[in-house]
Amino acid sequence: MRSSMHKFIELEQSFPRLRSALARKRDFAEIDEVFTASASSAQASRCEQCAVPFCQTYCPVDNNIPDWLMLQAEGSARAAWERLSEVNALPEICGRICPQDRLCEGNCVLERAGHGTVTIGAIEKQIAEHAFASGWVTPIHPPFEREGSVAIIGTGPAGIAAAIRLREFGYRVTMYEAHDRAGGLMIYGIPNFKLDKKVVQRRVQWLCDSGVSIELNCRIGEHKSFAELREQHDAVLVATGVYSARRLSITGEDGRGVVPAFAYLQHSDRCYLGDKLSDEQHLAMSAKDKRVVVLGGGDTAMDCVRTAQRQGAKSVLCLYRRDRASMPGSRREVAKAEEEGVSFAFLYSPLSLLGASSDATNSGIITGVRMQKMRLARAGADGRTLPIAIAGSEEDFASDFLITALGFEAEDLRTRFSEPELPTSDWGTLVVCKPSMRSSMGDVFAAGDIVRGASLVVWAVREGMDAARGIHAYLQKAPLSEELFDQQKDGQEHSRGLIA
Ligand SMILES: Cc1cc2nc3c(=O)[nH]c(=O)nc-3n(C[C@H](O)[C@H](O)[C@H](O)COP(=O)(O)OP(=O)(O)OC[C@H]3O[C@@H](n4cnc5c(N)ncnc54)[C@H](O)[C@@H]3O)c2cc1C
Ligand code: SF4
Repeated sequence: MRSSMHKFIELEQSFPRLRSALARKRDFAEIDEVFTASASSAQASRCEQCAVPFCQTYCPVDNNIPDWLMLQAEGSARAAWERLSEVNALPEICGRICPQDRLCEGNCVLERAGHGTVTIGAIEKQIAEHAFASGWVTPIHPPFEREGSVAIIGTGPAGIAAAIRLREFGYRVTMYEAHDRAGGLMIYGIPNFKLDKKVVQRRVQWLCDSGVSIELNCRIGEHKSFAELREQHDAVLVATGVYSARRLSITGEDGRGVVPAFAYLQHSDRCYLGDKLSDEQHLAMSAKDKRVVVLGGGDTAMDCVRTAQRQGAKSVLCLYRRDRASMPGSRREVAKAEEEGVSFAFLYSPLSLLGASSDATNSGIITGVRMQKMRLARAGADGRTLPIAIAGSEEDFASDFLITALGFEAEDLRTRFSEPELPTSDWGTLVVCKPSMRSSMGDVFAAGDIVRGASLVVWAVREGMDAARGIHAYLQKAPLSEELFDQQKDGQEHSRGLIA
């Protein structure tokens, strides 16, 4: 064992300084600081250097964590960065927003033994930030340019990770993005206080400097056809994510004062990014001075409640239909929401909207929501406890701004792309083989949420990198060893469980 390591006995675990809840609520800045180089090296030296590192096993990109922790602890910052970026195309982002408590850190042996996990995510973030600040992250210059052009639909983490690796191989890469900014949910969705937009924009700029073309405001299936794309490029990667919001299915849900989570968060992001929006948009979409109720218990719901607090809501209440222990998101995110003053009530399911519910024209603003008390029965087929309604247990909650965060589903891509051959699952996700991520259409590949269902950035990164290797093998006519990606097993098992 190197003497620089194994320091968990004499050195206590520490995280980067977290701003006070009061200060956090006043702005949208990231809530924690970056470790100093010395703190990062010291914390890295706590690593036990396990022969079988569970942190790595539970990291979706199979990050060789003990290796770069040791390099960082020894003061070899550049070597640590090189080792880290070999396996993870977006370490500066994963270090910030992976739910480490459920992945690498939750499975660190030190955590299990009660010493407190090595703070892997924070060290990863510091190594990456130090690399950017030191000018080590230079644009990609592949050793030679290859024949072959690849189209990527979608500029989220799956598309970006694939573009990085394909460019490194030397292919021409064009990305097509429906929105006016690149970054997918990292730019419109995940709030700035978790992931600074500048971090995403810096990576997108670097991608452009590396020779990747990005066509913004270009929705495939509307501004350009899928067939045209296949004619113009040698391979196509579909990385479109999942955006169809699950609905409440109660009267009045399209009325005033009821807002789906994505639209709400996107509006907030646009405000933060300085877009000019009308007074009507602000009135309809801002939580300022409103009594906010958020329905749902996943990470998206946590992002909504914490955004509402920052916008100056009068009160913020999160209602979830299961109990606290069954919440599908990260425990750390729930704890931060509570610190910031969000209230929670468990075992409630929506019955009807008050105020607007009886108004068929949906012209009135809601005044509240009627909820039914639930109890939990034995686990259902998905292994989760089943909420059962308790008859006669209705309760009203006052609200003039209701945000629905019930999860997302895939849109109907066969129709969107006018391509009936596109292989889709019962959930509308695309069916591919792993690890190549190739579909039965041969030149069409897919990665990220559109394959696995609503999941995590780090899984999108993993599949984007896998797809790049699959596309490379396909274009080089190399044999591909493939087995079917099982959406239920490979996807849902690791999904964020956004279903409320
Ligand atoms: C509110 C919220 C918070 C989250 N927080 C976290 C978190 O803290 N940590 C974490 O790991 N994960 C988080 N996630 C999940 C994570 O953001 C996703 O799993 C990840 O972004 C999926 O990446 P993707 O590349 O597959 O798709 P996306 O990031 O969704 O990107 C898809 C892109 O494709 C574009 N597109 C769609 N259709 C077309 C078309 N027809 N033509 C052109 N472009 C198209 C979209 O505009 C979008 O830019 C969060 C998700 C949400 C909604
Ligand atoms: S990529 Fe995510 S899960 Fe893997 S080591 Fe980094 S923070 Fe942990």
